[in-house]
Amino acid sequence: MLEHNVSLRPYHTFGIEVKARLFARFQSVDELRALLALPEVQQAEQLILGSGSNLLFTKDFDGVVLKNEIRGLEIISQDEDTALVRAGAGESWHGMVQYALDQDLSGIENLSLIPGTVGAAPLQNIGAYGAELKDTFEELEALETATGRLRTFSMEECGFGYRESVFKGPLKNQYIVTSVVLRLHRRAQPNVSYGAIQTTLQDLGIEGDPTPRHVSEAVVHIRRSKLPDPAEIGNAGSFFKNPEVSQHKFDELKAQYPEVPGYPVPGGVKVPAAWLIEQSGWKGHRRGPHGVHDRQALVLVNHGGAQGQDIRDLAYEIIASVREKFGIELHPEVNIM
Ligand SMILES: Cc1cc2nc3c(=O)[nH]c(=O)nc-3n(C[C@H](O)[C@H](O)[C@H](O)COP(=O)(O)OP(=O)(O)OC[C@H]3O[C@@H](n4cnc5c(N)ncnc54)[C@H](O)[C@@H]3O)c2cc1C
Repeated sequence: MLEHNVSLRPYHTFGIEVKARLFARFQSVDELRALLALPEVQQAEQLILGSGSNLLFTKDFDGVVLKNEIRGLEIISQDEDTALVRAGAGESWHGMVQYALDQDLSGIENLSLIPGTVGAAPLQNIGAYGAELKDTFEELEALETATGRLRTFSMEECGFGYRESVFKGPLKNQYIVTSVVLRLHRRAQPNVSYGAIQTTLQDLGIEGDPTPRHVSEAVVHIRRSKLPDPAEIGNAGSFFKNPEVSQHKFDELKAQYPEVPGYPVPGGVKVPAAWLIEQSGWKGHRRGPHGVHDRQALVLVNHGGAQGQDIRDLAYEIIASVREKFGIELHPEVNIM
């Protein structure tokens, strides 16, 4: 059940060579409870692992990695307008999107091709192309590590924000998500508010009212053209969150850099971190085996054989240089271990 000194390289998308002192998989809540009851596991630092697509390991993990493999996808109820779909936390997120499309259910097609597991999706309220997990979220079930008890969390209790939830904040490391329920639409309601989706639909020759499957195809097309595939080049997607600044700060920036992009959000303006990083001269920067992707400045990459601490140090250098040039603080989106 428990393996010792396991290489984590195959289990995370940065492809860094690090080891876990202890490693185990669980395929059900009962298996998870049995693992958590082992003294070796109780005494060790615990890391719940999905697909490792939002993690940067900077050293060997001197604890126990518990890999979530709880499967299962089902429609648990439906009415005229919506259906509730429950997924085991170890299902792949994109698999859930495809399942929904196969059942003629819409609402998560804009989140097509985001790597990772269903169980990790609420952790940072995954989002892309004008949609977020919280738009369709109904509830989740999570096991409290200290007691082994299962608890249901409503949308309000999850405290979702921009790439945030209570599971990254006050309840960090206290709960293991075991299943997620989404409320999906039975009548197609495609969201094409994001400009690139509209232009890509045109480029793909899709005219008239797009279906959810068309939107999914467009999103997959955009993502494949913009983001490096972790199977080819190690990365964890956007390394930094897009910072939010006050309107006053944004006006000051605009006076100095008239071309600065910005999107209104409650209480201020969101500025694309990719623009700030690119303007600071980092896009395509390469330092031996690691660097900044040449097509997407938000993505730090392992070209092969990079060390996690070198990627972390590069991230902090980027943060310092953006702070110095623009007076804006960037924060990592990736979990640095
Ligand atoms: C190429 C690429 C593109 C990406 N694009 C996007 C994007 O568009 N939008 C976006 O939001 N994200 C994006 N990401 C980030 C990533 O896909 C998401 O954060 C995803 O939800 C991570 O899932 P995972 O299973 O790989 O989590 P992991 O990396 O395995 O874990 C991430 C964190 O969640 C914790 N965790 C995992 N599972 C559980 C669980 N069941 N219970 C409790 N804690 C858990 C882990 O301990 C860790 O702290 C991208 C990543 C890559 C590599």
